[in-house]
Amino acid sequence: MKYSLFSSEENGNLNMLARGLVSDLETENAEIRYETESCVITIKLDKPDYREALEAAIATLTHPEYGKLSDISEIDAVGHRTVHGGDKFIGSVLIDEVVIAKMEQCIDLAPIHNPANLEGICQAMFLLPATPQVAVFDTAFHQSIPIRARVYALPYEYYERHGIRKYGFHGTSCQYASQQVCQLLKCSLEQSRIVICHLGNGVSVTAVDCGRSVDTSLGYTSVGGVMMGTRCGDLDPGALLAIMKEQDLNVKETDLILHRQSGLLGVSGVSNDMQTICKLAEEGHQRCQLAIEMFTYQLKKYIGAYAAVMSGIDILVFTGGIGENSSLIRSMAAANLGFLGIVIDPERNQEKMSRDTVISVDGAAATVVVIKANEEKMIAQEALTIVKGLKTEQAVLLK
Ligand code: ADP
Repeated sequence: MKYSLFSSEENGNLNMLARGLVSDLETENAEIRYETESCVITIKLDKPDYREALEAAIATLTHPEYGKLSDISEIDAVGHRTVHGGDKFIGSVLIDEVVIAKMEQCIDLAPIHNPANLEGICQAMFLLPATPQVAVFDTAFHQSIPIRARVYALPYEYYERHGIRKYGFHGTSCQYASQQVCQLLKCSLEQSRIVICHLGNGVSVTAVDCGRSVDTSLGYTSVGGVMMGTRCGDLDPGALLAIMKEQDLNVKETDLILHRQSGLLGVSGVSNDMQTICKLAEEGHQRCQLAIEMFTYQLKKYIGAYAAVMSGIDILVFTGGIGENSSLIRSMAAANLGFLGIVIDPERNQEKMSRDTVISVDGAAATVVVIKANEEKMIAQEALTIVKGLKTEQAVLLK
């Protein structure tokens, strides 16, 4: 469970005051790592459930020595990252019981993420009952994807009646990265064709044309597109049916294979973690080498496809744990794409990226940039916007 505290400045900028991570919830290894610009603190926790984890997080923020708040009542709003809003949410919303009921209907669309998101929201509402809570959906940014890219070529009723369609994920990260990269390059978001490679445990490639998402590699669920840590990515649906038939697998067993046993882990046979895979590949592990080749080949295909979709590419962004830290993956994914104007500078690509950095050669038609993922800031921004709207509404009512 990650958390961050922002304050808004008079000019509207958001300033991060503190951040933290509670890891290994509900286990004996649980701990909370909290940092501000002047301290890093680690505290052991005893098998915390969600509520206890959140209580511990709030306690760091209000701690008399290293906290940044004197009281929790100083929190004006809580923004929650929420993975799947289905077709029920097209933007961020103030959370109430109706919203929670609608979110519960979306659980099947993201079975790994949505229940945890909901649990976090319920506990935050319990611990901060007077504070507005805002849900920021990862799917919202992709609502602009045109119908031709949204519908699967199944019988149309599955789209119309059952909502089986592309939703997309990592929208909050894409929204942040596209705004941030244009600020960095001092160019207009409304006139830029951007491909964003969000490469973490989950992976997506997104085409952002004039500030709007026009296609993205993840679809109805978060298992398609480019292969991921344990998720398979795109495959021939016929292959899936063959596996189910031959091994007499039910839906649950098949789901486990697709979500938990495939991707980097499935191909390498040893790990879902890209850093480990890269290390083993360097030592000569052939299936790790293959996993890297497949991963970067698939990325390259999506970059090319989305450049075609937008009739060209002005900016290529790498973000997320792999995108920010692996020069090898960046260079392999972008290799031989000079015909699209993408040429990475090997020296710039090797630099340790402590901040957002341009890694393409000067004068290339497309600028390649590493952007540090900062979904938190985007979420805080959205929460603030919604709460300001709320305040205006209340002000109008009072009049
Ligand atoms: P999440 O999607 O869960 O937020 P992250 O964005 O933190 O995850 O990305 C995690 C991935 O980044 C892991 O596969 C990890 O191995 C990978 N990663 C982090 N540092 C490196 C590195 N130096 N080289 C290769 N992969 C890295």
